[in-house]
Amino acid sequence: MRDHELYATILGVEAPWTVERVELDVAGGAVHVWLARREDAAAQCPECQTACPIYDHREREWRHLDTCQLQTRLHARVPRVECPTHGVVQTPVPWATPGSKFTLLFERLAIDWLREAAVTAVARQLKLGWDAVWGIERRAVARGLERRGTLQLRYVGVDEKSFQRRHDYVTVVSDLEGRRVLLRRRLCPTGVTLSIGGGPDGGQARAAGDISLARAQ
Ligand SMILES: [Zn+2]
Repeated sequence: MRDHELYATILGVEAPWTVERVELDVAGGAVHVWLARREDAAAQCPECQTACPIYDHREREWRHLDTCQLQTRLHARVPRVECPTHGVVQTPVPWATPGSKFTLLFERLAIDWLREAAVTAVARQLKLGWDAVWGIERRAVARGLERRGTLQLRYVGVDEKSFQRRHDYVTVVSDLEGRRVLLRRRLCPTGVTLSIGGGPDGGQARAAGDISLARAQ
């Protein structure tokens, strides 16, 4: 099995995408995998699913699960389509959430670790910055809310947490009865603006009971 066939198999790459080439960068401690999309494959607007002509391509890179302790980096030229209704829009890729620099499998690994260890420990082990870890958490929460649809909540907790005594704060909104995080949002320490219901994270929640507020000292 050649290297690109091996990676096509372990990455689960499916048509119209294929593995074009694989390069090992021993000095940089990384494996780079280039994915290519069949040029004649039809493309759709991600907003309205209308078949649209390809407008151009954008070079993108994602971090994937490590290969034998080498960071695995995926590269692809992602098409943008020109939709008569929505204008020029980037098409989604099956291995990552739009806007993320990590594959879904890498994000799942990070979320699994975040259930077991503190944010600082996970960031150190996975060689990630603060923004990257919270971005991964935020997208995971958004995906969870999208799956749940509209929630009926009786008790909602709003807690403000700081990071390593720095003046970096996130507000965590939880369903107190279901003991689950509904959303996390990075906030300015001097002010809190929070909306529940169809926010940019894509989920919807309706608070019908008590709201518990706590502020970090
Ligand atoms: Zn459209």
